[in-house]
Amino acid sequence: MTVERREPAVIRPIGSTDPGGRFAAAKARLAAIVEANRDEILALSHRIHANPEPAFEEVQASAWIADAVRAHGFAVELPAGSLPTAIRGRLRGGRAEQPGGDRPRIGILAEYDALPGLGHGCGHNTMAASGVGAAIALAAIAPELPGEIVFLGTPAEERGSGKVAMIKDGLFDGLDAALLFHPSDMTHVTCGLLASEDVEVTFHGFQAHAASDPWQGRNALDAMIVLFSSVGLWRQQLHPEARVHGVITEGGQAANIIPDRTAAWFMIRSPDEAEYERMRTRFEGLCRAAALAADCTVDVVFSGRASTMRNNMVLANRFGANLEAYGVVPGPQPDNLGSSDMGDVSQVLPTIHPCVAICPAGVPGHSIEFRDAAATPYADEVTLLVATVVAQTAYELFADPSLVAAAWAEFRESS
Ligand SMILES: [Zn+2]
Ligand SMILES: [Zn+2]
Repeated sequence: MTVERREPAVIRPIGSTDPGGRFAAAKARLAAIVEANRDEILALSHRIHANPEPAFEEVQASAWIADAVRAHGFAVELPAGSLPTAIRGRLRGGRAEQPGGDRPRIGILAEYDALPGLGHGCGHNTMAASGVGAAIALAAIAPELPGEIVFLGTPAEERGSGKVAMIKDGLFDGLDAALLFHPSDMTHVTCGLLASEDVEVTFHGFQAHAASDPWQGRNALDAMIVLFSSVGLWRQQLHPEARVHGVITEGGQAANIIPDRTAAWFMIRSPDEAEYERMRTRFEGLCRAAALAADCTVDVVFSGRASTMRNNMVLANRFGANLEAYGVVPGPQPDNLGSSDMGDVSQVLPTIHPCVAICPAGVPGHSIEFRDAAATPYADEVTLLVATVVAQTAYELFADPSLVAAAWAEFRESS
């Protein structure tokens, strides 16, 4: 299939473009601070890109990020909460001590995990660097701000839903907004996320010589093949946006041994929480049926549950307007959907998770091509632009309490 490649927008220089509108002078200062720190921000992006670490193992990335925000005045916790590679940096505004000055508390988020075997095929290096860049810009004007800037380094997005643990650990308590972008091949201010979960399936059988005593064996690979076949047939009865997909992680040892153990890693996803629950039950049933068919036993372990997304339009529209001032015009939300633990964050406070193109439209995510795109000069300009726009959006929340109130009102009405 040929996919049309449409080049991404030409970005106006952040250092010399008038952002216009309300708070234009402050927004221009934030852009100038990002521009002045471009070498540090982009060096971080490239260092993380060149040293990919998978979920829960982001030891170097978390240390580099923590050092960067600490150097700009944040009080940093690493680890923050129960995850060894989670980060919290806090910086109170200079007006926080004034009457009524303790709010808002604005969360600036950063992701930094990579994909096993592929590296930064999801471009999380740009998310880490843009989050740090926004934190640097806001820190420079913190003496003028009320409330608190809360930087959260959020590990394990690709597997394990690290933000769910961080929510349980109380790291999102008291925040008024959570701001995080994702690199993509398209630009849009809202995102649709599928409820999703990882499933580890292990079949246990009985080993035997595949030629001399096959009748003594109970074949765990047969069970696995029956499971994949039934999942394939089941797909016809699923809604078009539902997803179930998996890989075999253990398929047996040798052709002449009846495998006594096989394992697979599946993911189940749906845009509808109720449908998701039905899929989960049905999938467990398919696993039990496959075990029965091959006279095996099965273990089914679910983990890393992520929720659907509740987009906050008050925040999303501010982000979009700030982005547009630099020539990057958001388009409609596309049909293709993924999953993210940002969905879980969006269920507890006003949240945005916009996408900004770092490459031509049509480049698939989780690919070598997207990985390479995440370290190009264009991706660098997007990283600096998003750092600027996130800082500007946060500034509007610090400067205008009615905007924070409107974001919360929308959040409450949508529940
Ligand atoms: Zn991602
Ligand atoms: Zn990803």
